[in-house]
Amino acid sequence: MEVRVRYAPSPTGNQHIGGVRTALFNYFFARAMNGKFILRIEDTDQTRSSEESVKDLYDTLAWLDVEWDEGPEKGGPYGPYIQSERIELYRTYAQQLVDKGKAYRCYCTSERLDALREQQIASKSKVQGYDRHCSHLSPQQIEQYEKEKRPYVIRLKVPVEGKTTFHDVLMGDITRKNKDVSPDPILLKSDGYPTYHLANVIDDHLMHITHIMRAQEWIPSGPLHILLYEAFGWEPPMYCHLPMVMGKDGQKLSKRHGSTAVKDFREKGYLPEALMNYVSMVGWSYDDKTEFFTKEQLCSLFSLEKINKAPGIFDYKKLDWYNGMYIREKSDEQLAQLLLPYMKKASFIPEEPSSEEYQRFLSLIPLVKERLKVLSDVVEMVRFLYEDIEVDDATLFVPKKQTLAQTLEAIQAAYAIMDGREDEEDETIEGLLSEKAKEMGLKVNGIFMPIRVAVTGSAVSPPLFDSIRVLGYDKALQRIEKAIMLIENEVNNG
Ligand code: GLU
Ligand code: ZN
Repeated sequence: MEVRVRYAPSPTGNQHIGGVRTALFNYFFARAMNGKFILRIEDTDQTRSSEESVKDLYDTLAWLDVEWDEGPEKGGPYGPYIQSERIELYRTYAQQLVDKGKAYRCYCTSERLDALREQQIASKSKVQGYDRHCSHLSPQQIEQYEKEKRPYVIRLKVPVEGKTTFHDVLMGDITRKNKDVSPDPILLKSDGYPTYHLANVIDDHLMHITHIMRAQEWIPSGPLHILLYEAFGWEPPMYCHLPMVMGKDGQKLSKRHGSTAVKDFREKGYLPEALMNYVSMVGWSYDDKTEFFTKEQLCSLFSLEKINKAPGIFDYKKLDWYNGMYIREKSDEQLAQLLLPYMKKASFIPEEPSSEEYQRFLSLIPLVKERLKVLSDVVEMVRFLYEDIEVDDATLFVPKKQTLAQTLEAIQAAYAIMDGREDEEDETIEGLLSEKAKEMGLKVNGIFMPIRVAVTGSAVSPPLFDSIRVLGYDKALQRIEKAIMLIENEVNNG
């Protein structure tokens, strides 16, 4: 039997970490089993679905380089793969259940349903929800309503007795009493649109899905889906509900923890390989120790047995670590290409750089490579090379446990040492500066930090002397001079 799995997002927002993990697990499983990975868009909730969300879905999967075997744009034997293009089909199947006596038309008005709800609340009734009124209408009543062309919904007849069990690969058997399944849920709405449950079950069946891998949030829908399969007389697929993705505090991952939209990660400059690798480790592991996996490895090694039962923790710091590792694996050329969009966006480099502009940038790569956590970090790291820096607060030059006056003396001494030594080795100049600091009773940072801030505008920068050289020794000295003036001013007037 060929494995056929699907990712079936509702396009009601940007793709987030949890969704993408579901997509990846399905994709890896399909590849590892030599099966098919199907993409299906569940957009029957027309009020919440949007074109932008569909675009974000495509962009995200393209960025991750996850290709589907069947689905929108690509087609396949069981299309269309967009639910809003399959509406007729859901109507037909819903009517089939009515004809079989497994479902019925409910003509209740919203007034009746509102009154019912109020009365249930007022009487603190144990039975909540629909009272199955229309499941025992007489044929005459039905005929009458049909003649009046009363709007109706179609509801599933949920058995009142008994229980329903489904098997989950990770969780084992899950059993619910049928009386705890909501009484007679709507399958088809009065506007002829299906609810999620109906469309989802019909499509999984018609698309020959063999395994359903989806978020654990869907477990409560499991019994209802099984009842639907039974009503149709279909064999349900295998279930594998994935452990939750949580933040470090043990709460479900959400905006409170940081951004969760893949788009944000993409824009900040996380590499798709790094995100794919890390997200795969949230809830799955190969041998509890290997941390690095290429996409190809995941596509051959993935297995359901290795999915954790416990919730996975998404740790932003750990993702940064992965990203840094992947960044450092790039060649300078590759990294330059990845960084260029950020350089252009900051207007440091024109849209069509000349070869000198490109070469100059390429020569900076070794300076930043070791320090980048995300690609967009490059902008602040190299800003001092592309823009005049404006430090207007003298206290920014002052290292911890040092006074403004001491700092002035230190940077003046530094200037005196550096002036005229352009042709000497960096190590020599650095050595002289360190000695000077000691002589003045300062930590080495007491002299290096003011220079760093003067030259780069920031206390964190690429290595100082490399920065001075790429900026130009003279230009660096001018910046130091300017800083001295500013600090002097502050010492005299402040
Ligand atoms: N459309 C559902 C969602 O957005 C799919 C759930 C399922 O995989 O069955 O999560
Ligand atoms: Zn009714």
